[in-house]
Amino acid sequence: MEKIIYLDNNSTTPLDPVVLESMLPYLKDKFGNPSSTSHKFGRETLVAVEFAREQVASLINADSSEIIFTSGTTESINLALKGIVESAFRDKIHIITTKVEHKAVLKVCEYLEKFGVEITYLPTDKYGMISTSDIVDMIKEETVLICVMVANNEIGTIQPIGEIGKLCKERGILFFTDAAQAVGKIPIDVKALNIDLMAFSAHKIYGPKGIGALYVKNNSNKINLYPQIHGGGQEKGLRSGTLNVPGIVGFGKSCEVCKEKLFDEFNTHSVWRDRIINNLLTKIDNAFLNGHPTKRIPNNINIGFKGISNSLFINEFTDFAISTGSACASETLEPSYVLSSIGRTKSEISCSIRIGIGRFNTEEEIEYIIKRIPEGINKIKCQLL
Ligand SMILES: *Cc1c(COP(=O)(O)O)cnc(C)c1O
Repeated sequence: MEKIIYLDNNSTTPLDPVVLESMLPYLKDKFGNPSSTSHKFGRETLVAVEFAREQVASLINADSSEIIFTSGTTESINLALKGIVESAFRDKIHIITTKVEHKAVLKVCEYLEKFGVEITYLPTDKYGMISTSDIVDMIKEETVLICVMVANNEIGTIQPIGEIGKLCKERGILFFTDAAQAVGKIPIDVKALNIDLMAFSAHKIYGPKGIGALYVKNNSNKINLYPQIHGGGQEKGLRSGTLNVPGIVGFGKSCEVCKEKLFDEFNTHSVWRDRIINNLLTKIDNAFLNGHPTKRIPNNINIGFKGISNSLFINEFTDFAISTGSACASETLEPSYVLSSIGRTKSEISCSIRIGIGRFNTEEEIEYIIKRIPEGINKIKCQLL
């Protein structure tokens, strides 16, 4: 069987073997419930969970008491948005977000609208970037929260979150950000960026699936979160349910490894990304880049080849695991709403693909991609003649 090169790291990443190793004891002998501390079994897992909480916090310059473990970004988004709205006890609530957020944000917003919450969805420029002056223009008395992702999962564009954090702080508005694509890939300092709440997942950073966190800033009397999962009162009452100890331990380890490798990986992947983009844009006629040419995460490439539909591409490149449009929406066969909001036509969207490079790709694979894609595209073009 031919080897398939995994190039869908914006969708999920393989588990780092070091992370797996750290988890194994907690899938075997160390099975205690960290809430049952009357014996050694519970106490040892409690220690492991609190150690992991420090590792997670350290990657984003938070305090460990600011980390709430959840099942992942989707749950963290639900907790943040619904939790803020439900605790606001106000007649009128206004939230500002963007048209290019992940469905996890957009669907929660749609749900909140049914309960009378007013939501403003900001448009972006052709690179998928929002403008902070648009935010300022939309702010009103009732605005309680601004929700803008750090980096887009389809096109990789990085939003001006430092500026947004600053303007939120000056105006006493909460700033929530979905950082699933950014944490571990670019430096994120929640304090320097004035972030109040932030969601992220382990499986995007070489950790296990089904575990993630919501960062909730301490010492902020503005933040009052209403829990969405009620029960035994774990995670300061914000997220009940017996803790996913192996997941948490793996998440902690994956954050530690990312912190160690961040600088090196940022540099290598940025070089690989630009080499792929530049080669494909110059070697292939009518190729176009989606997303920002420079303000983008190091591991994302979203590119279109006019005249070559996704299905033709996928049929030819069976040796690549890549994504057409957004992985999350690909079952629905709807054209990507992100590409459509940056002004791409239906036909441009249907010939756009996403390449997500990662820790376990090699220099040889990158060289292979650069050679293989133009050749394959030529082959398809000849067959179409
Ligand atoms: C992956 C992703 C999510 C959803 O994360 P889950 O781990 O599936 O809950 C949300 N937002 C962005 C930007 C993502 O990349």
